[in-house]
Amino acid sequence: MLRKKILSILILFLFVFSGCKAKGYQKYSQTRLAMGTTLTVTFFTEDKKKAKAIFDEIFLLANQLEQLFSSRNPHGTIKKINQQSQYTLSDPLLLTTIKQALKIAQLTEGAFDPSLYHLISLWDIENQMQKKDPKIPLPSAIEKVLLKTGYQNLLIKNNQLFLNNQAALDLGAIAKGKIVDQLAKYLDKEAISDYFINGGGDIAVKGLFGGFRKWKIAITNPYRNQEFLGVVNISNVAIVTSGNYERFFISNNQRFHHILDPKTGYPANTGIDSVTVIANDATTADAMATALFVMGEKKGLAFTENYPHLEVIFFQKKQGIITMSHSSGIQASKQQNGQWSFRLKE
Ligand code: AMP
Ligand code: MG
Repeated sequence: MLRKKILSILILFLFVFSGCKAKGYQKYSQTRLAMGTTLTVTFFTEDKKKAKAIFDEIFLLANQLEQLFSSRNPHGTIKKINQQSQYTLSDPLLLTTIKQALKIAQLTEGAFDPSLYHLISLWDIENQMQKKDPKIPLPSAIEKVLLKTGYQNLLIKNNQLFLNNQAALDLGAIAKGKIVDQLAKYLDKEAISDYFINGGGDIAVKGLFGGFRKWKIAITNPYRNQEFLGVVNISNVAIVTSGNYERFFISNNQRFHHILDPKTGYPANTGIDSVTVIANDATTADAMATALFVMGEKKGLAFTENYPHLEVIFFQKKQGIITMSHSSGIQASKQQNGQWSFRLKE
């Protein structure tokens, strides 16, 4: 009886430890300012030297990619593109990203729209946020500038981009995701199998934390930014959160935030305060988070059900109470501490 017990304990030990990685398998993590936000890269390896080399390379890569995608950078490629009505896209990554952006614009019927440069410049939320007395654009100015927007004005033929009716590009709602995906590709190439990349809320995770459990990703409380409303347990996916608490200013007791409804020209106002999207890649998750914020809960949930690898979690206040809703591929349970715990259904 005793022998049997010892044997079963031994088997249990073997079972537990066979799932673990080698002894020197350690966590390496660095956070630096990059791509106009904070970028955290965490991964596990046995090779300390390799870890150092990876950090040097990955933050450099992030900054290079930021140059390629930013429409604010005066020396950036997008700035050049926006000064013309036709442009040869010689950079293959930029070409595929713009193609992807136009595809998502079509799928979301323009809730995500990469042609909003002039509208975004008019609102200038980032600068207005710094001011004591921020200015809301005049309705007539919004109407005028809307004529220069619309993804249908952007056309790609071979590697030529045509910008009709003075439309201009802003990839702000998809670029961070694309950069995170590129950084993930780099870690894949370096044979890193357990990692986490967080570029200002655009996250990609691969493998397991320490090789033994899923990654736990916290969702910020949109009403108290230092707190969390829930934790998502995931592996091998991307997760992106967009919210009206990230960049905004208040005028006449009203909040004006950075996610614009391309139809009205005003900040999207569907009652949603935070949307978290899970998808296979961060590019899709990023663009879809913006689109679903604009669509709102009802339309957004119905939309998400059409795509098997797209899941969404919404937070909003209904009659003053924080309310959560989610798509059908997500399993949610309330923890003792009042936070939500989420996972993808198998
Ligand atoms: P995100 O941080 O992904 O929510 O993206 C927000 C950024 O994307 C804004 O700062 C704008 O530059 C841009 N943007 C705002 N509204 C939209 C929209 N409806 N479609 C596409 N881009 C948008
Ligand atoms: Mg986005």
